[in-house]
Amino acid sequence: MQRFDVLVVGGGPAGSATAYRLADAGASVLLVDKATFPRDKPCGGGLTTRALRQCPVDPSPVVEEEVDVVELRFRYGDAVVRHSQAPVIRMTQRRRLDAFLLDAARDKGVEVREGTTIDIAHAPADVIVGADGANGTTARGVGLGAGIVHGVAYEGNVPYGLVDRERYERRAVVELADIPGGYGWVFAKGDHVNVGVGAWQSEGPRIREHLARVCAAHGLAAGQLENLRGHRLPLRPPGVRIANERALLVGDAAGLIDPVSGDGMYECFVSAKLAAEAILSGSLAGYEQAVDAALAPLHRASWKLKYALDRWPRASWRVARTRLLWRSVERLLLGELAAPEEQHGLARIPLRALERLGRT
Ligand SMILES: Cc1cc2nc3c(=O)[nH]c(=O)nc-3n(C[C@H](O)[C@H](O)[C@H](O)COP(=O)(O)OP(=O)(O)OC[C@H]3O[C@@H](n4cnc5c(N)ncnc54)[C@H](O)[C@@H]3O)c2cc1C
Repeated sequence: MQRFDVLVVGGGPAGSATAYRLADAGASVLLVDKATFPRDKPCGGGLTTRALRQCPVDPSPVVEEEVDVVELRFRYGDAVVRHSQAPVIRMTQRRRLDAFLLDAARDKGVEVREGTTIDIAHAPADVIVGADGANGTTARGVGLGAGIVHGVAYEGNVPYGLVDRERYERRAVVELADIPGGYGWVFAKGDHVNVGVGAWQSEGPRIREHLARVCAAHGLAAGQLENLRGHRLPLRPPGVRIANERALLVGDAAGLIDPVSGDGMYECFVSAKLAAEAILSGSLAGYEQAVDAALAPLHRASWKLKYALDRWPRASWRVARTRLLWRSVERLLLGELAAPEEQHGLARIPLRALERLGRT
C-alpha cells in the first residue's frame, strides 16, 4: 500500500487548509472524507475578515455578499447599527466554500479520496491529522480531545421575495439577550438570507422555539425556512489534549469554536497553519502550546463576554451598544487585534466593564 507523510481525516476548512499547506511545502498528503463534495455543513457561512486573512487561498470566487453593516439588537427591540470602514464578514455557503478549498488542496498535489473512511489503526502515514469535525471519531481513536464540551446551533434559509433584499443588503443582524448561551442571526447571501440561533447545549430541546422567535422578529413564520439543520458547537476547555507524538487535531475536532460568537472558521485556518508548521518541523510537541498562544487569550475573553451577556443582559447591552466597544469589535473582526487584551487607550474601558460583568 502506498504510504504518505500525513493522513488528514476530514475535508472541511480545517482539513483542506492543513493539507494544502503541507502539500505546498512538499509533503505527501492523503486526505479522506466520508462525504462526496460538494456537500453541505450546517453553518451561517460568515467568513470574518480575520478568518479570511488566515485562509491559504483567496475564496473570492465563492463569496456572495460583503458585510460592512452590523446591526445589534436587544430582545428584538432597541438596536444599534454600526458601519465598518472595510468589510468585516464575507458571506458564503459552505457547500461552495468547502468544495473550493478541497479543490485547491487537490490542485496542490494532495491525494483526495471522497466518499471514503479509513481505519486509523492502519493509517498509511507517519502523522494523523484529525479534521473530522464536531461528530468525528478520530480524536477518540488517537486518544485526544477528551473533555470537549458542546453548544448547539440551528439554522435555515429564506429566499429574497419572502424577505426584503434591501433590508439585509451588506448587513449582519445579531439578536442578543434572548437565547440562553447564544444569540440569533440573519445573514445576507446571494439569493437568500440565512437565519439561525446558537445556544447552550441544554437548550437543544427548545432550539426550534428560539429560532421561531428570531423568525417572528423578522416577519417570518418558522415554516418558511428551507434546509433547516442543526449541529453541535464543540468548545475546548483549557488543558484538553489535542496532540501527541503521532497525531493532532484541528478545527472543530479540536473543539476550537469561539465560545461567544460560535465562529469556527478563523480557528480552522489558524490551527491548520500551526499544525502544518509543527508537522513540517518534525515534532508535534509544540502544537498544543502554539494553539493556546494564538487562541486562548481570545477565547478567555469570549467566555467572559458570554457569561456577561447571559447573567447581566441589560448591563451588558448598555456597554455593547457603545461606539467605543464597536471600535474593538471592528478591529477584532478585521484581524487587527488577535484578542481584546491587545486594545489600548480609552477603548479598553467597555472591554474591562464586560470582563468584570463576566466574572461576577
Ligand atoms: C449552525 C452553525 C452556524 C455556524 N456559523 C458559523 C459562521 O457563520 N462562521 C464561522 O466561522 N463558523 C460558523 N460555525 C462553525 C463552523 O461551521 C465550524 O467551526 C467549521 O465547520 C469547522 O470546520 P472543520 O473543518 O473543523 O469541520 P467540518 O466542516 O465539520 O468538516 C468535517 C469533515 O469531516 C468529514 N468526516 C467526518 N467524519 C469522518 C470520518 N470518520 N472519516 C472521514 N471523514 C469524516 C465530514 O464529512 C466533513 O466533511 C457555525 C456552526 C454551526 C453549527
